[in-house]
Amino acid sequence: MNKDLVQYCPALFEDETLYSWVSRWVIDTPKPYLGRILTELLGSRGKQVDSTFPSFIPELEKLSGINAHKLLNEHTVIPFFRSFVCESNYHKVISLIYSGDTKRIHKYLSITANRVNDTSELLYCPKCSKCDIENKGVAYWHVTHQLPGVSACVKHGLKLIPYVKQRRSLRLPPQELNSSVLTIASPESLKLAKVTEYLLANSFHQLDGERLADIYRYKLLNIGLASESLSVNQTELRTLLEDFWAPVMDDEAIADIFELGKSRTFPSSIFYHSESQHHPLKHILIIAMLFESMEELLMFEQSVFDYRTKLKTLTEQELDDNENVALNTLRKGHSLREASRNSSLSVGKVKQIAVINNIKINRREQCIFEDERVLILEKLKRHEKTKSVAIDMGFSVGAVEQILSQNPDVVEARLKRRYWMKRYIRRAKLLIAMRNESLNTRHAIQKAASVHYNWLFRFDKQWLYRHLPAKQPWNKRNKS
Ligand SMILES: [Zn+2]
Repeated sequence: MNKDLVQYCPALFEDETLYSWVSRWVIDTPKPYLGRILTELLGSRGKQVDSTFPSFIPELEKLSGINAHKLLNEHTVIPFFRSFVCESNYHKVISLIYSGDTKRIHKYLSITANRVNDTSELLYCPKCSKCDIENKGVAYWHVTHQLPGVSACVKHGLKLIPYVKQRRSLRLPPQELNSSVLTIASPESLKLAKVTEYLLANSFHQLDGERLADIYRYKLLNIGLASESLSVNQTELRTLLEDFWAPVMDDEAIADIFELGKSRTFPSSIFYHSESQHHPLKHILIIAMLFESMEELLMFEQSVFDYRTKLKTLTEQELDDNENVALNTLRKGHSLREASRNSSLSVGKVKQIAVINNIKINRREQCIFEDERVLILEKLKRHEKTKSVAIDMGFSVGAVEQILSQNPDVVEARLKRRYWMKRYIRRAKLLIAMRNESLNTRHAIQKAASVHYNWLFRFDKQWLYRHLPAKQPWNKRNKS
């Protein structure tokens, strides 16, 4: 037991990285022990102390007496990856880290772009540093500031300041602070940081790649970047992503993701290989552009997709079993709706089974129709397209539209939502156009983005005027 080393072990602060803690430990240890602590921690095995995936957690646990789970879950960015990795791979990653063998980790995280994960910089927020000095007496490195792609402090809304890593050196953020270095973070970098922090804090929610791709498809359908058959316009999406993330493109990890796309692998791979594991940042760049927050994405998923995903996740065996349940229910003379409820299959599918098996279903036509009508209405209330409802339920589009027209409140809700979606994309496109600094007058913006400007002028004037540059005085306008 290294009792003499333990006595110099500093308190581990909230959100502090292991690198930061080890650095303070080494800095505070008097000379005679220094050599030993370095050998114990970094060892002759040449461990990289500032790595995203530290290989010295077993040594740290032994030296400090602090539980390895706590070190890993609260003081590294590793839990952030959990949402995007299948459970068995994540367990492999954890066991590799606990055994100190981190060389093969990338394989299980399916991370091919190595640079994306081990960037050459450490980041700090000058205001957080100031608070740390006031409260703890020392400025330290925060886990939330080292997450891939993150370049803003969510707490203070400031741009993080980079410090270039130096191999095998142990450094803390500057302890003397110059207030002139405060830079307000761009709204885009803040949004990205918020989504990423949410995923670090809520890593228990495992996100399935195929489900995510479906969520994106439906959201893109709503904003006109996917067709009715849900095929995504990859070129337009890529351009929209590039434009949207332009303010943070100087970030190493983000630039790397876009560079992977020379052959257009981003974002198309997310859709074409949705079953594969992708780097979380690829998903986050799409999520943070399409949604205000992770909470909004989860609400969207729940309101629109529950029904669909339930059907999709059935295995073939289960599907056979469910078909038999539906068939038996129908043979007993029950309605399509009941057979659908008993079997978890869609009414359309049940109808198909009935037709194939020569079961008369028009015996209680009125009643069946009422059941189906209710279900169609439920789907329409969930903003599903009339065409996809018609296909799902085995009806004509005309029949679905007729049911819709009999429910003016649903019609109104759908129109409202369509307007809202249109407004969302018009606003986004205008803001993107306004990033061009040469467009510094209302007139210039109107000229450059006339379609969006004119639409917003007609339907969303208040918002438009709030976001445009101030009106130029008459005398100045006349001169130009
Ligand atoms: Zn801060």
